[in-house]
Amino acid sequence: MQKREQRKPMVAGNWKMNASREAAQALITAIQQGATAFTAIDIAIFPSFVHLPLAEHLLKNTAIAWGAQNMYLGTAGAFTGEVSGAMLVDYGCQYVLIGHSERRALFHEDLTMVAAKLKAALEAKLKPILCLGETLAEREANQTENVIGMQLQSAIDAVGIHAFNQIVVAYEPVWAIGTGLTATPEQAQSVHAFIRKIFAQHDVVVANSMRILYGGSVKADNATGLFGMADIDGALVGGASLDAKSFLAICQAAEQTEIAME
Ligand code: PEP
Repeated sequence: MQKREQRKPMVAGNWKMNASREAAQALITAIQQGATAFTAIDIAIFPSFVHLPLAEHLLKNTAIAWGAQNMYLGTAGAFTGEVSGAMLVDYGCQYVLIGHSERRALFHEDLTMVAAKLKAALEAKLKPILCLGETLAEREANQTENVIGMQLQSAIDAVGIHAFNQIVVAYEPVWAIGTGLTATPEQAQSVHAFIRKIFAQHDVVVANSMRILYGGSVKADNATGLFGMADIDGALVGGASLDAKSFLAICQAAEQTEIAME
């Protein structure tokens, strides 16, 4: 088992296409105020593009980071409707989600596009959170490891193993996202261990220091069980991140688990 102290847990909130300006302001403020007690974990929020200036305004010089849910390739150009990594950096983003399953499924981002975005994010000096996951049909056909292996390999081929020092991986089984179904801690741990094993085949140091988050209907009441697993280094939270109390309770679970393991 890897030593967890090599990896600071992270709780990240993916707001998706949610929140009015007023609601975003209230949510960011409540999270910021509630999170001041946490010292053992990293916290990041991912509001929509339009709320990033608000995040920068309210979170600058606090311990909470912010990032975007998506980005496009290059720095600037004739790509109507798109936002570049350089623009995100301009608004203080440290992180960007890459390859979320909704981007892969609804916006047809294939392995090649996800790999290109991963490379572009690193070139912009952003820290990507690379999302991986299998569908229910793939799990039922015993294809989970094949699918995750393919998603990982195409990312490693694109940016090289050492780039993963700057990348966070999020295992998000598609069947658990927004469905209320969560992978059991054992199911999640088994895939996380598989992911770490693949990295270890390339570089043990990178594998042991890389954070692998779990995502898929994480809530306050299932978070502690997940965070207690050896290879689960935090969570990428969708629905529950839109409610400050729920999100902070998940942060609290991560903080407590980490302190108990120290
Ligand atoms: C997500 O969208 O990344 C996610 C994990 O969503 P939820 O927590 O709502 O399942």
